[in-house]
Amino acid sequence: MSENISNLLYLVSIVSFILALKFLSSPTRARRGNQIGAAGMLLAIGVTLAKSETGGGLSKSLDTGTYWLIAIAAIIGSAIGVIGARKVKMTAMPQMVALFNGVGGGAVALVALSEYHNIIRDHVSTTWDISLAIGISGLIGSVSFAGSIIAFAKLQELIHGRPITYPGQKIVNLVILGVGLGLACTVAAGVTHHWVLVVALLLALAFGVLFVLPIGGADMPVVISLLNAFTGIAAAASGFELGSNVLIVSGMLVGASGTLLTLMMGKAMNRSIGNVLFGAFGQVAAGAGDAAAAGGATGTVKSTSADDVAIMLAYARKVIIVPGYGLAVAQAQHNVRELADELEKRNVEVVYAIHPVAGRMPGHMNVLLAEANVPYTALKEMEEVNPEFPLAEVALVIGANDVTNPAARSNPASPIYGMPILDVDKAQAIVVMKRSMRPGFAGIDNELYLDPKCMMLFGDAKESVVKLVTAVKAL
Ligand code: NDP
Repeated sequence: MSENISNLLYLVSIVSFILALKFLSSPTRARRGNQIGAAGMLLAIGVTLAKSETGGGLSKSLDTGTYWLIAIAAIIGSAIGVIGARKVKMTAMPQMVALFNGVGGGAVALVALSEYHNIIRDHVSTTWDISLAIGISGLIGSVSFAGSIIAFAKLQELIHGRPITYPGQKIVNLVILGVGLGLACTVAAGVTHHWVLVVALLLALAFGVLFVLPIGGADMPVVISLLNAFTGIAAAASGFELGSNVLIVSGMLVGASGTLLTLMMGKAMNRSIGNVLFGAFGQVAAGAGDAAAAGGATGTVKSTSADDVAIMLAYARKVIIVPGYGLAVAQAQHNVRELADELEKRNVEVVYAIHPVAGRMPGHMNVLLAEANVPYTALKEMEEVNPEFPLAEVALVIGANDVTNPAARSNPASPIYGMPILDVDKAQAIVVMKRSMRPGFAGIDNELYLDPKCMMLFGDAKESVVKLVTAVKAL
């Protein structure tokens, strides 16, 4: 394949990646975006292999045996990808992203190691920028691999989600990182000894583990997004090593979008990235029940029945449904849609209040409700829906907790103080559906439940919504 044709096809791949990102930003076109991105990736892989076959790429020495190895690895990898993606539950999506991201980081580190080995074996004289790219991609790829595996293990509860800390931790981390960086710099300076990069990568792996261990499980999605950005940057550096423009551009796209997502998630929780990475958030939250109490919230919790709630809903003019993580756990989205349909038949206006960090990953509630064909026009972002709460006769909170906690507004002692929340407490009546008085992700009590306007409908969200649908139909 000629250089011009392969460059043209790479350009098509790059454009498809950019279009994919654009399409992914809207729920109606996200599926198409995914398909465009996958097609672009397939094209990039195909062109790279075809280039190698004609001796145009870096890996000029690919023989038939190597092609077979690549084919077998591709089949195994694709099978794991397809089965994993089909089987994974929506609530387990963050850990799957962590795992896939870790594999990407690990692959980049292995490419760096292999290129360094080739340079030493073939006595190739390289320019400093290529050596620097090898050092950077190996180091960042290893951090991303090890960190993502720890993030996966925390979210999968293979290890405890609480922050694991010890005295002098930051100093130990700094020393490990410093020595690793120093060794990577010697690689960039042209030192060619196998052990230099191997030791640097081992230190980077240790740093990846030690850097993520002190971060609480609650902050893992933010960490995964940050590690995703790391993998992107490492892949871009790998593109310099291999002379691959498509890898440079796609790596930078991942790096930039991962960085933006990390910043946006931090903003939605009102936390700086420094606080997420070094604040050991779960530890603070362990004593936070007291902090919430210190805010002065007193009162009694009132429980109610599905029949009573059905009457309130059926005779309301406006109901705001507030979905949260519990809705995803209960998989009640289809039943919620059915409830909204029944209410709309009775001329009740139903809207959904979407908090940016409701659930366990960005866009979690949008995806869940889209699955049940809830019209996008009924979904309202926090800024848009908050002024509407005083007009709603009922705010129906289904499996949401932290994103409705008024302590975020009123109690400076609360760990979530300053996080923007849904103004559920301003509705005329509040019904909260959850199984118990247990706290949510942040591990803190919710003063909303003591509000005189608030009633608790205890039980699994799906079972409770099914009861509500039956009761509304019977009215
Ligand atoms: P929370 O985690 O605060 O609360 C979820 C509630 O759902 C729990 O209190 C639980 O109570 C209830 N629940 C669980 N299972 C069921 C069930 N089967 N039926 C009924 N209720 C159930 O969720 P929110 O969505 O309000 O808040 C998200 C939290 O996650 C925030 O703290 C946010 O900062 C954090 N986070 C979100 C990220 C994102 O990108 N979306 C990323 C990182 C963190 P009970 O056990 O009593 O039933």
